[in-house]
Amino acid sequence: MSEKSPEQTRTFATMVAAKQGWVLNPDAAFTDSLIEGLTVNWNRYGYYLCPCRDSDGSRAADADVICPCAYSWKDIETHGHCFCALYLAPAFAQRGEQPSGIPDRRYVH
Ligand code: SF4
Repeated sequence: MSEKSPEQTRTFATMVAAKQGWVLNPDAAFTDSLIEGLTVNWNRYGYYLCPCRDSDGSRAADADVICPCAYSWKDIETHGHCFCALYLAPAFAQRGEQPSGIPDRRYVH
């Protein structure tokens, strides 16, 4: 498994956003920190574990929180941003709204 650089991770996140019709959080310093977290997780676990969540110990156990996580679509639709606020809905970003803390849908049923 080859290591990823933050630049490679940024390319990944940019492609995810483009594919899903989302935008990256325009707060550059904040987004940089999440990109860094994703990169660290890739190099530690071998997959893009969400930078805002802890590993449950295996790829299978973490499958729902590998970026883009299983909850991101619903969170972006409902709140305008994913749990980490890496990805935003374009309209939310255009309004200049600030992401807020939202419940982790992983534990909300
Ligand atoms: S909340 Fe989901 S989509 Fe957002 S950074 Fe974490 S894994 Fe990726």
